[in-house]
Amino acid sequence: MILEDWHTHSSFCRHATGNLEQYVKAAIDKKLSVIGLSAHFPYDVLDGIENMPYHEYSMPKDELGSYVFNAINLREKYKNQISVKIAFELDFIEKQVDKHHEYLERYLDQIDYIIGSIHNLNTPFGLFAFDDFRFLKYYDRFEDTDEIFMNYYETMQAMISSEQFHFTTIGHFDLPKKFNILPNNKELIMEEEFKALQLAKKRDIVIEINTSGLRRPIKEQYPRVEIIKEMFNLGLDIVLGSDAHHPNEIANEFKSSIRLLKKIGYKRLAHFNKMAKTYVKI
Ligand SMILES: [Zn+2]
Ligand SMILES: [Zn+2]
Repeated sequence: MILEDWHTHSSFCRHATGNLEQYVKAAIDKKLSVIGLSAHFPYDVLDGIENMPYHEYSMPKDELGSYVFNAINLREKYKNQISVKIAFELDFIEKQVDKHHEYLERYLDQIDYIIGSIHNLNTPFGLFAFDDFRFLKYYDRFEDTDEIFMNYYETMQAMISSEQFHFTTIGHFDLPKKFNILPNNKELIMEEEFKALQLAKKRDIVIEINTSGLRRPIKEQYPRVEIIKEMFNLGLDIVLGSDAHHPNEIANEFKSSIRLLKKIGYKRLAHFNKMAKTYVKI
């Protein structure tokens, strides 16, 4: 079985354990053919982050060069054992997309793919890190959970439609369910989810099957099966990502996920090299 993990973090991201090499070695031990290093892109290039513990979310911008340099060295050092891919997990924050460009452009020739993720919502009370458990105590600032879900999927639709935001892959599609908080009006939210999928299809964006949800209170992968079935019907391509924050979490639950994907009908997974997509059979 070919195993490729397209979503991992490291000590560069401050809240993850283990350096880049430990992740690469763990991936080799697990006989993976690809490990994608997808560090969070620096938050200190953005405005309005004062309310967030952003220094715990990512490396500062002055470490970007060191991250890419390290990753290139590992790619070379282990090239006979595993294919190391270099990537970023990039936050989409409306009206601030251009803030990444200046920094991202320096490394574009080394980057294999970019995960577009939403961890922060624009709200009347500033940027809101809804997936940080420390923000749970502020959830009552919203009318109800549907407001969070609506904001999230409207932001996702804007991300997919944005001509300025360049990315290949949507990270953890239904992330707001992380703490087992679900929408009240499921139909309303599902309409927005399906709209996002249709936009993704139009732009040929890949959706990640992220197994970290299995380790969270919700105890299921992102996205849930209902969404994966719709993705298959629409002909959307997928990759697998563990979102590992510890080397032990690499490729977590990948074999059971592949069985599930095959059952739904998927026969191949996407694969990236320098932003170009190919496929591997499952
Ligand atoms: Zn993420
Ligand atoms: Zn991540």
